[in-house]
Amino acid sequence: MDKFILIGPQGSGKGTQSDLLCNDYDFVHISIGDIFRWNLTNHTKLAARVTRIMNEGRLVPDDIVEEVVRKRLEEHDWNYGFVLDGFPRTRAQAEYLFEGWNLDRAIYLEIPDHVVYERVAVRVAQGQAQGFTKRADDNPEALKMRLQEYYEKTLPLLDLFEKKGMLLRVNAFRPIPDVYESIRSGLGLGAPLKKKS
Ligand code: AMP
Repeated sequence: MDKFILIGPQGSGKGTQSDLLCNDYDFVHISIGDIFRWNLTNHTKLAARVTRIMNEGRLVPDDIVEEVVRKRLEEHDWNYGFVLDGFPRTRAQAEYLFEGWNLDRAIYLEIPDHVVYERVAVRVAQGQAQGFTKRADDNPEALKMRLQEYYEKTLPLLDLFEKKGMLLRVNAFRPIPDVYESIRSGLGLGAPLKKKS
């Protein structure tokens, strides 16, 4: 059983690479952002606690996130393993994961800072041109805040993973198949379980 996490800034391709891995190896893709968005759409009690924070692009408090992650992982529907996308994003969350879940590797999708800013600028411009975006947190202020949270709280975690010898750095500023190949070989994954149709 393989337990991976994916770390990277906005637009680094975390969702895309998670999908590829999960499709080929039957891992379960767990996106914390998706779980929160599901709650927002369905107006749950949890949504009432996190909507404003999310729309402002800030990180949801650790205790709330950990509860969501714990409940999701305890479903134990991940026979072959899981890819956690968007968790951990703070030191406390990383400690939580180390204590309970025997993580195997942390995959860091690295893209140059100027590319991150360019991609964010494109998203802002697209949002303004269309007059709407599919995400409430794709407005300029929230995008800026999300980036700030990433640099302040998430990026420092790389040291932690490096010290534990579990960090896989991947240059993600390349075509999607090339990035995927580096991840597969870096993780030592064999041939895919099944052929894609
Ligand atoms: P994402 O789709 O991963 O960018 O997540 C969207 C939003 O959900 C973030 O901007 C945060 O407000 C919240 N969120 C997702 N994952 C976490 C996390 N691990 N810790 C705190 N907040 C999170």
